[in-house]
Amino acid sequence: MSGFGVFSVAGGTPHVGWRDGDEVVDLSGIGDVYAQPSLNALMALGRRAWDESLAGVRAHDGPRTKISAATMHLPFAVADFVDFSSSLEHANNMGRMFRPDGESLLPNWRWLPVGYQGRAGSVVVSGTGVRRPRGQLKGPGSDVPEYAPTRRLDFELELGFVVGIPTEPGETLAPERFADHVFGVLLVNDWSARDIQAWEYVPLGPFLAKSFQTSVAAWVTPLALLDDVRVDAPAQEPPALPHLAGGRDWGLDIDLEVELNGAVVSRGNARSLYWTMPQQLAHATSNGARLRTGDLMASGTISGADHGSEGSLIELAENGARPLRLPDGTERTFLEDGDEVVLRGRAGALELGEVRGRISP
Ligand code: CA
Repeated sequence: MSGFGVFSVAGGTPHVGWRDGDEVVDLSGIGDVYAQPSLNALMALGRRAWDESLAGVRAHDGPRTKISAATMHLPFAVADFVDFSSSLEHANNMGRMFRPDGESLLPNWRWLPVGYQGRAGSVVVSGTGVRRPRGQLKGPGSDVPEYAPTRRLDFELELGFVVGIPTEPGETLAPERFADHVFGVLLVNDWSARDIQAWEYVPLGPFLAKSFQTSVAAWVTPLALLDDVRVDAPAQEPPALPHLAGGRDWGLDIDLEVELNGAVVSRGNARSLYWTMPQQLAHATSNGARLRTGDLMASGTISGADHGSEGSLIELAENGARPLRLPDGTERTFLEDGDEVVLRGRAGALELGEVRGRISP
């Protein structure tokens, strides 16, 4: 397990560390960008500096602290947060549940990675508690909504990337430019309130159903460490338009799992994603919207084709029709107070930082 994070010890000043197994190595002795309370200064240096410094970072003989004795902080200041819908299986599953009488896949889905602007200010680091949000809910048997705590709280297993190098307003990026601008990847849990979502999402998409909190890993894995897990992404039909064509060698063969109260409830793999990260970035900049250091973009829920590989509880439990049975004998259709969710990602020696969160009332 390795990657960059921001940590502090015993109330000291947070700064950048490198994870080495169950320890974090203090990098603040290497230079100013590592003595910061976020990765943003390091992320603004660019691909050449990132690659040239990585060997020195990994070999640095700085002070070490057990992770268990460190406080982990949000690793970077989030500029904007964009969330996509890149998994064909997830989009199909959600379409069938939210629009049972129509086509599960809307006509635009295979032409662009559908996305929405999330809320950067409610992105928190792994381990932060999750308060059950209140919102407008309207049951199928009711004529009017009520304002109440969500009864359909869910997780979404996602893979995100963070932008290091900004763009100028008006500048567009081809998928091939991905590695010039993106610093690294990390797991993301896009907590979702399905009842709030179902009532509010037409016609402008999710708003309060997802903006109450998004949890990210404490550790960012630099792109250079992904070389061994890169594979071709699944074929696209129809072929993408020219400005989104490319970046198809950024499928990521990373095993993913979701643990609920200590039991693994889902096993999948990131290589099933239809739209790759370079295509997501190309689409997000295709209108000339500028990138800023710290922009976080996430894949959307990653679900596989087989039952048991879905990245959200609403899919695993088939919208309540097939409750999940946990080893303690209890059943879940949605998350209950006290539940703890952990997302993990692994590929051989590569391990992404986990994302952990416990629900409170
Ligand atoms: Ca999402």
